This record gives sequence, C-alpha cells and structure tokens, in this order.
Amino acid sequence: MSDVSLDEIVSLAKRRGFVYPGSEIYGGMAGMYDYGPYGVELLNNLKKAWWKEFVYDRDDFYGLDSAIFKEPKVWEASGHTTGFADPLAECKKCNTRIRVDKELERIGVKADEKMSEAELQKLFDENRDKLKCPKCGNKDFGPVRMFNLLVKTNMGDFTGDINAAPVYLPGEACQGIYLNFKNVVDTTPAKIPFGIAQIGKAFRNEISPRNFIFRTRELEQADTQYFIPPHQNKERYEQIKKDRMDWYVKMGIRPENLRLKQHDNLVFYAADAWDIEYNFPSLGFDELEGIHDRTDYDLTQHSKFSGTDLSYTDPTTNEKYIPWILETSVGMGRMFLAFLSDAYTVDEINGEKRTYLKLPMHLAPVKVAVSPLLKNKPELVAKAREVYVMLKKEFGAVMWDDNGNIGKRYRRQDEIGTPYCVTIDFDTLTDNTVTVRDRDTTEQKRVKVEDLVGILGSPV
Ligand code: ATP
Repeated sequence: MSDVSLDEIVSLAKRRGFVYPGSEIYGGMAGMYDYGPYGVELLNNLKKAWWKEFVYDRDDFYGLDSAIFKEPKVWEASGHTTGFADPLAECKKCNTRIRVDKELERIGVKADEKMSEAELQKLFDENRDKLKCPKCGNKDFGPVRMFNLLVKTNMGDFTGDINAAPVYLPGEACQGIYLNFKNVVDTTPAKIPFGIAQIGKAFRNEISPRNFIFRTRELEQADTQYFIPPHQNKERYEQIKKDRMDWYVKMGIRPENLRLKQHDNLVFYAADAWDIEYNFPSLGFDELEGIHDRTDYDLTQHSKFSGTDLSYTDPTTNEKYIPWILETSVGMGRMFLAFLSDAYTVDEINGEKRTYLKLPMHLAPVKVAVSPLLKNKPELVAKAREVYVMLKKEFGAVMWDDNGNIGKRYRRQDEIGTPYCVTIDFDTLTDNTVTVRDRDTTEQKRVKVEDLVGILGSPV
C-alpha cells in the first residue's frame, strides 16, 4: 500500500469506470456495488488468473459452477440456519446497528463472532466508555444480540409468507462443491487427493456493510476445496498456505502488504484456520482470504442430512472413509480492492504529480490505447483505425481514444492502468512507424507497425 487512502481509491474507482455505487440513481443501496467497464475487465482478469492457477496449471483440480439456490436442508446441515450469526447492538438514540466484535476489535479488544452472546455482552459492558455510535456519537446501546446473516427468499413458495418455507440465498459459495463431490468423483478421473474450484455468489445480511467493496451484502467467492484422506492434513495445509501467499506475490502484490494470521478461536470442527491479510488503504491489515482445515465435517454433515453416503473408497487400498477437506476462500471484491490499491502509484513527471495503476499486462483492463494525433485529419484517423483493428485482433481489450489532447489521453490511460499508448502521427503515413508510450517509465519509442504486436507482447 502506498500512502493512498480508501477515499482516494473509491474516487478513482468511480471517476475511471471501475466501481459505481449500486442503484446510484435511486440514492444507492447499502452494501451493493456495480463494476463498470474497466472494473469488470480487472475483475474477470483476476478470476482468469485464479482459475488458471488451480484448474489449468494443475492436474488434480476440477472446475464447477453450482446453482445459487439450494435445497434449504443444505443450510441446516452446514450449520448456517443456527450458527451463521454476527453480534449486533443498536444505538438507543439513532438506531444505527453496530457489529459488536468488529467495534471491540477496533479499540484493541480481542473478540470475534464465534464467541457467545454472554461473552460478548461482558466484553461490551467492560469497554462501554470507549465505544460510541459511529453515526451520532451516543454511548447508550441496547443489548448484544446474535443476528443470523442468511438472506431468505420465497423462491418456489407461493404461500405469501416468506417465513413459511424459506429458500435461502447462499451464505457461502462453497456448499455447492460439497453437494457435487460425489458427482465429480463419479464422472471424472478424480482420485483423492484432488480439489474442486469454483467462483460463486454469496449473500450475507451484514449488519454494517462498509469500507467500499471490502464488506458487501452481495459478494463473490473464489473457493477451493481439497479432498484428502483422514489425518493427512498437516503438511498439505502448510503447503497450501505457502502456495497462496506465493500466488499473490507472483501476481504483483507487494510482499510487505501481505501477512498470515492464525485464528485464535476455532469453530468446533476445524483443526486449524488462518487468514491471509492485506494491508488495505485506511483499514490496515485485514482478512483477504481464509484458509481452513475443516476435517470431515462438511461431507459428514451432508451424508447425515441428505441420507446419501458421501464416503470415498480408495481404488488401490479399498479403504473407505469420509474425506477431510482443506479450504481456501477469497472474496473477489476484496481481491479486487487489494490489487487496485497495490497498483495505485503516484510519481512526479516534470514537476507534475501523476497517478497511475501499475497493473501487469495480464491484469490491466485495457492492454493498449490507440490514438490518432489529431482527430480531424481523416488520413491519420484511417491509419489509426487500421492499427487499432490489428491490435484488437491480437489483444482484445484495446481502446480507441481520441478524446482531448494527447496529455489528457495519457493521464486517463495511466489512471486506468493501460500499459501502452500507441499514437499515429504524420510520420506514420510516410515511414509506417508509430509512437509507443510506456505507462511506467513514460518513455516514448518509435516502432514499426509490423513489429508492434511482438514488442507489446501477448497477455498471459
Ligand atoms: P469477516 O470476518 O471479514 O466477516 P469471514 O471470516 O466471515 O470474514 P469467510 O466466511 O471465511 O469470511 O469468507 C471467506 C472470504 O469471503 C473472506 O476471506 C473474504 O474475502 C470474503 N468475504 C466474507 N464476507 C464478505 C463480505 N461481507 N463482503 C466481501 N467479502 C467477504
């Protein structure tokens, strides 16, 4: 993280078409955001890089895309209908709801959502003098209550009563992987140990969605579940932690902005749990990705609740067992925010401050911008179009940019993170060379049109 604040990131994201507030023309909706033309490119590039890491670069992983809606018993089996709750307290003056564990953490008191209502109430009471309503400053709150985060719907229910037989939106995307474990084993060459990867939507009735796309009510999670024989978890778990940290660094995140943190308080079935934390602007180090050693809990629960035997028989030893699971889970919004923040760079060119996104070519939303030097000279425009079409065929995400003068175009492309700007001028018409301007160095080189593709390289 540079010294950039979250406000500056939010402002660039809006100004340059990365992220817009959801339902903005109606005044917005808490915890909802829309990804704009450049945001969706960065988001998709991150998803592609993540998918490549697991599904294409390994031979022990299989991809999946499961339905959002699931038989409601799934959420009973997983424990979400009873245990998926965050502690809430309400300001007695303005009714603002605060998330008790996060507010306690903010003032340096160790707390988390896995503590009981009574434990949290005690900590809350002990620290009342330091806690105040983030909206009105009042210090008087109602009691601490656990609030279930599952979002209910009436999908397929025509009784008119949402509570009669609610069908839930997924509280986490990974449940679809457990439900399809047997299908994948039965229909692919998968043999334990193997993994399933999925990017899917999740919904949480977060008490206080805040900090831009860090905490939203609709989110997308990139999950891997690695199925292993019982008790063979320790070494593999360490390897997964290392691999995930290495991946972020390989993708361009500065190592000093990443750290691993172990959970103090484990859910009863977990053997271990760590978070990869990123040093988010204004927020400091906070959870980016969770890495969980879940033992046999998930497949045992679904076997019990569904009545379907989800045990696995080893084809060589004939040993039958319920597989243990090692999980990685990262919110795509948090990943997006980490990459956007890490790429945000300010330097000085000829005494003038410049902001640019130092994104690698394969993540950059636009790979190349093509401009005619002057947009009112048809011969320049025609030649620039020719170059544009050629580059678009090769790189896909190529932008035609003839708006404003060259300086303005460069500034715009720098803030989008476009690695190269190609300008067609009068010399191009005689010697078939163009100017290529490099985003990071701002150096300009003259390059033959026929050499352009080779010089700009191919996006991974
Ligand atoms: P937190 O403690 O921040 O609420 P969590 O421990 O509940 O997160 P998990 O249930 O482990 O999170 O979810 C896995 C990942 O999904 C997290 O590491 C995070 O990247 C992402 N995530 C979870 N909740 C949200 C949310 N409300 N908005 C955006 N991303 C989220």
